Amino acid sequence: MPEGDTVYRTAHVLERGLTGRILVRSEFRMPQHATADLSGATVLGTVSRGKHLLTRVARGSGADTEQVTLHTHLKMEGAWRVLRPGQRWPRPEHHARVVLETSDTVAIGFSLGIVELLPTAEEERVVGHLGPDLLGPDWDEDEAVRRLHAAPERPIREALLDQTNLAGVGNMYMAELCFIAGLHPQTPVNEVPDVRQIVRRAKQMLELNKVRWSQTTTGNLAERERMWVFRRDRSPCRRCGTPIRVEMLGPAGRERAAYWCPRCQPRPRVRRTSAT
Ligand SMILES: [Zn+2]
Repeated sequence: MPEGDTVYRTAHVLERGLTGRILVRSEFRMPQHATADLSGATVLGTVSRGKHLLTRVARGSGADTEQVTLHTHLKMEGAWRVLRPGQRWPRPEHHARVVLETSDTVAIGFSLGIVELLPTAEEERVVGHLGPDLLGPDWDEDEAVRRLHAAPERPIREALLDQTNLAGVGNMYMAELCFIAGLHPQTPVNEVPDVRQIVRRAKQMLELNKVRWSQTTTGNLAERERMWVFRRDRSPCRRCGTPIRVEMLGPAGRERAAYWCPRCQPRPRVRRTSAT
């Protein structure tokens, strides 16, 4: 699943390829928007909010101008690509969900998890639930820390993935942040010694990686050296040599793979809740 920095870079790619241009053709390959048509509209820009993308266009003229937002989300497999007209697509045509064409560019949204059109004035409806955005202009460290502390019994793994606490951390950064902090992913928030430190590191990781497509948390860009634990199950821990563990964790039906070093990130002790 793409993390906040990937979505941020995607917004820049769309910004470069579409902003200020007039759409000569649009295509929405999904039943609920099959008849939508943005041709003739001017693209005003694309911004990321956490892992959501908002592409704003203006159509009509004078007093009849309306601003419309195309809200998309990459979810697990999604990607936007901007190409020249006639250039070969990097993914199969039937994976395309949205095609936006200008006189000299074509933006194709492949396998998008969310595609919806709404009045720009109503954007809050789709992104208003998000916590402070790690890469947003409104980033607020205090608020993110406050939200994480609001559910003290919750595993840090879940709390970091919850986009209403802070927006931008996905499964990869979650695993890496827990490793760097020496925390088992199931450690309850109230047993985390320094929540603010984790939030700061999350911000640093995304800031460092937002300008490059190949992400690293170790500082090493070599293909197999980029991560501490993420997708390194059974490989030796870079610190202590113990094989990295992987386990599916999370609410039923929405489990995600968690990776950790059993030695560097010991399981939290089970606390007795009764006084026996
Ligand atoms: Zn280790």
